[in-house]
Amino acid sequence: MVEPSYVLEPLNPWLMCGPDTTVTELWKVRERREKEIQFHLVYFDRYGWYCEHGRNCKAVAEVRRVVRGMSTKVPAPKSSGKTRGRRGK
Ligand SMILES: [Zn+2]
Repeated sequence: MVEPSYVLEPLNPWLMCGPDTTVTELWKVRERREKEIQFHLVYFDRYGWYCEHGRNCKAVAEVRRVVRGMSTKVPAPKSSGKTRGRRGK
């Protein structure tokens, strides 16, 4: 078994989706496993990340991981200022 590898390429959502789009991130993901290559388009808008194959596509996790690691554009969920896990009823 060969682990699939991913190549991520950022695209311009305004060019791809038009000026009125709410998509702020658009990534093309090339997933390569053995001899097969599959392409994904992963979007980010105010509802969150999703792939053309659905939110649970593994390309989504891959893009999120890379984006989180490389920029401050997307704040880490922990520092969003929201009180999390308020206990007590
Ligand atoms: Zn996908």
